[in-house]
Parts: sequence; C-alpha cells; structure tokens
Amino acid sequence: METKIVKVKTEDAAVLSAAGAVIAGGGLVAFPTETVYGLGGDALNRESSEKIYAAKGRPSDNPLIVHISKTESAEKIAVDIPEEFYLLAETFWPGPLTMILKKNETVPRETTGGLDTVAIRMPDHPVALAFIEAAGGYVAAPSANVSGRPSPTLARHVIEDMNGRIDMILDGGDVGIGVESTIVDLTGEVPTILRPGYVTEEMLKRVLGKVDTDRAIMSPDSGQAPKAPGMKYRHYAPKGSLFLVEGSPEEVCGLMKQNLAEVKKTKAGCKTGVMASDELLALLGELPDADVKKSLGSQNDSGEIARRLYRVLREFDEEEVEVIYGESYSGDGFGQAVMNRLMKAAGYCIINKTKK
Ligand code: AMP
Ligand code: MG
Repeated sequence: METKIVKVKTEDAAVLSAAGAVIAGGGLVAFPTETVYGLGGDALNRESSEKIYAAKGRPSDNPLIVHISKTESAEKIAVDIPEEFYLLAETFWPGPLTMILKKNETVPRETTGGLDTVAIRMPDHPVALAFIEAAGGYVAAPSANVSGRPSPTLARHVIEDMNGRIDMILDGGDVGIGVESTIVDLTGEVPTILRPGYVTEEMLKRVLGKVDTDRAIMSPDSGQAPKAPGMKYRHYAPKGSLFLVEGSPEEVCGLMKQNLAEVKKTKAGCKTGVMASDELLALLGELPDADVKKSLGSQNDSGEIARRLYRVLREFDEEEVEVIYGESYSGDGFGQAVMNRLMKAAGYCIINKTKK
C-alpha cells in the first residue's frame, strides 16, 4: 500500500478533509497529538479497528482509545456517565487524560478489545481536533508505532514504523509531552489510575478528592494483572537490552562503570550505551567502556526527560547498541509516568547495590 505523507497545519482545510474522508471510507491515518502520534481509524467501524491491530501487530485484546473533539460526543458512545467525568473533562480536556466509561452498543467490541467499557480522550492539539472533526467525531487511535516499539514522538518515527502499512501520515512536527495520556477508570467505586501520565494523581485528587492508582502498574510482581490490558505487555522497548541502575549518584556511577567493564570483558565486540541525565553524565566523566552516551536532559526536568525518552530509545536502535545502562528517576508526580515507561522498556531489569 502506498502511504501518503503530508505536512499539515491546522488551517490546511483541504488536507484535513481529505484525511477525514480516508477515515470515513474505512482507512487509517496517523496524526499528531500533544502526547505521541496516534494511528487513527473510525472507532465505530469494526473493520477499521481490525485494520489498526493488523497495522501495528497489536494483540487484539488490547483496547483502543476513542478520540473525540467535543465533550458531549462521549454521550453517544457511553452510558451511566458519572459526574466525575464532567468535572475532569472541564478541568483537563482537551488534554492528556483518558477516561474509561461503560460503553453502549454503538462502539464495536473490536474497538474495545472485547471489553464492555470504552476509553475516551480529547487531545490538546489543533491538528488532532480538526482531523477528528473532519473524520466524523470518533477516531480510535493507539500510538502509531509497531507494537512493542517505543511510541512515536516525531513524524519520522511514524514513517519508520507505518510507511506502506496505512493510507496517510499527517506530519505535524514534534509532539509536546512525549509520553502517553494518563488513564483513569471511572467505572468502579473509586476513580482509579490505570496508567500514569502527565496528569498526576495529585492533580486528579484536587478535582475529585479520592483517587486510587492500580498498584500493578509499577511492579511486575504485585501478583495482580494490570486493569488496562495494554499495561501487561512488554512495551516501549528498544531492541538492545536495557538495565536501569538505582542508587545515589556515586553508586550509580560505580555500578555503571563496573557493569560496562564486565560486558566489554565477557562479550567481545558488544556495543554498549549509557542513557542518563546531564548531571550524571558529567559525574561519569570519560567512560571508555561506553560506545554511545545519550542525555535525557536535566535530572530535575521530568518534562524534558519525557519529551526525549522515546526518541533516545529509538536512537539506540538506529545505532545498534546491544546493552544499555539507564539512570533511574524519582517516581513522584509526572516522574512516576516517566519511571513507569522506563521500567517497562527495561522489562523491569534493575541493578542496584543489592541486585548486581
Ligand atoms: P495506546 O493507545 O497504545 O496508548 O494504548 C491504549 C491503552 O489504553 C492500553 O494500555 C489499553 O489497555 C488501555 N485501554 C483502552 N481502553 C481500555 C478500557 N476500556 N479499559 C482499560 N484500559 C483500556
Ligand atoms: Mg502504545
């Protein structure tokens, strides 16, 4: 299939209506949002959703998020909508928050991975909103990467993964946030975060009072399956092996150097890398055993780390780095979302003073 790649600004009405027509005709279009690039199809057309799973190689029990451009649109696809939905929509939409509601029969089960709930979000990106509008108002869209690879934060990443697999790619430049939306489930007793993101538990609590977080999302050995089906898959991962190194800056430096030296000694010709903050890289100094060193920005700027993370993971792939040591970050606030993605990218492989 030939994929049309088009640069787009909000005012490009002709491009947006052409993209909308592709969706209405059952095709797929990748588009920019403020979090990562999405791979869109008509959320109300079961065949479109099947095509999305096929293009990504995504397991079909992993539901898609339905993107809308007006809060009221939720009423056409969901039932028993609680007050919390409207409170959160007013505060955070358009924005990086996905809400789970009970679905009605308008939404095919192919879109929701067989569940009777539906995930809904209104993205904060002018191109995304205009595109959703042009497409008829309901665009199912997971991240526009091949399943298991880091999510795309540049149009170039989407082209790498999706060229030849979908009808059109809307190139809207770099994304602003860089990690996927926060997901909050509003179908239970207490609103529960199923995936951390830019909107933190604190921010949700300020609006709702009580909010829980699904504990399964930060640790693989909590004994529970995560409630967002997608969170159980290895995800966001580079092709090389990534290990996260924990401890004080001095300990992390020591452990990284020791592990790098060992890899160089035991695996001849193995290409090694380090992914760390500016501060840690300065402390690490020369580092002769690391072939590639990449910075995620300042330790104190989780926004910058989030924006760079997936891009840097893809760069390690491009440079065919086989073993990567990454600095681990504090798990507070938005840092928790970054750490969650890092842990998944590393397949929960941690190195610290006690686990070498
Ligand atoms: P992605 O679009 O690639 O960011 O993935 C969407 C995420 O939303 C996956 O982790 C899904 O498991 C999750 N999700 C979508 N719909 C639901 C739902 N109805 N209930 C729980 N999680 C959902
Ligand atoms: Mg994804």
